[in-house]
Amino acid sequence: MISPEECDRYERQMRLFGREGQERLKAAKVLVAGAGGLGSAACVYLAAAGIGTLRIVDEGAVERSNLNRQFLYGDEDIGRAKVEAAAARLERLNPDVRIEGLRRTIAEDTVLDLVGDCGLIVDAMDNFAGRHVLNDAAWAKGIPFIHGAVEGFYGQVTTFVPGRTACLRCLVPVAPPRRAFPVIGPLCGIVGSIEAAETVKYFTGASRLLENMLLMLDGVDCVIEEVPLRPAPDCRVCGRERTRR
Ligand SMILES: [Zn+2]
Repeated sequence: MISPEECDRYERQMRLFGREGQERLKAAKVLVAGAGGLGSAACVYLAAAGIGTLRIVDEGAVERSNLNRQFLYGDEDIGRAKVEAAAARLERLNPDVRIEGLRRTIAEDTVLDLVGDCGLIVDAMDNFAGRHVLNDAAWAKGIPFIHGAVEGFYGQVTTFVPGRTACLRCLVPVAPPRRAFPVIGPLCGIVGSIEAAETVKYFTGASRLLENMLLMLDGVDCVIEEVPLRPAPDCRVCGRERTRR
């Protein structure tokens, strides 16, 4: 149930999806995979929106070179585990949200445990090998996977839903090698914020999702495009799902 204080806190968004929508957010448990640039924006908006439980998984510690985009952290957090610093910051923002910070590596042998009973995965990773692992876990569990990625002034975001859409392996069949790439903070903020908006829309049913549509952001020429996505007929992850249906 939503308390009078919660009604007060969420009043402006409850005008969009009502008390029932807010209760659904409160009952939701979301995995945010990665607590970097995308994760900073996604976590702040999901905590502020009143998602009941946020499970944040990241293996790293805060470095000075993170601070141009990872606004969950300040100078005083350098050297501290990201999940610990993130939990402290988010608990200050909204004490009603339960934060589970796990300093773990997302890998094939750990992912299903890490996802646990979460009802949705937010991709806030910085590499496609890790994203593939999350994608496969989302399909195995039958839960949505909100994909976001940035590089330089460019970003992309889409919502994958098992049984209804293509999957990440249709879009990016082979993971490019992991490397340090250039990135500016605002693009992480935009993409991470859209991922949070998709999450809120999914749980409240407030409006259509970015299903089978890839939103591409070009921060150089200030162009945003929506490109249709089609499931790859031979995809070994979502293709199997389609055959089963
Ligand atoms: Zn696929």
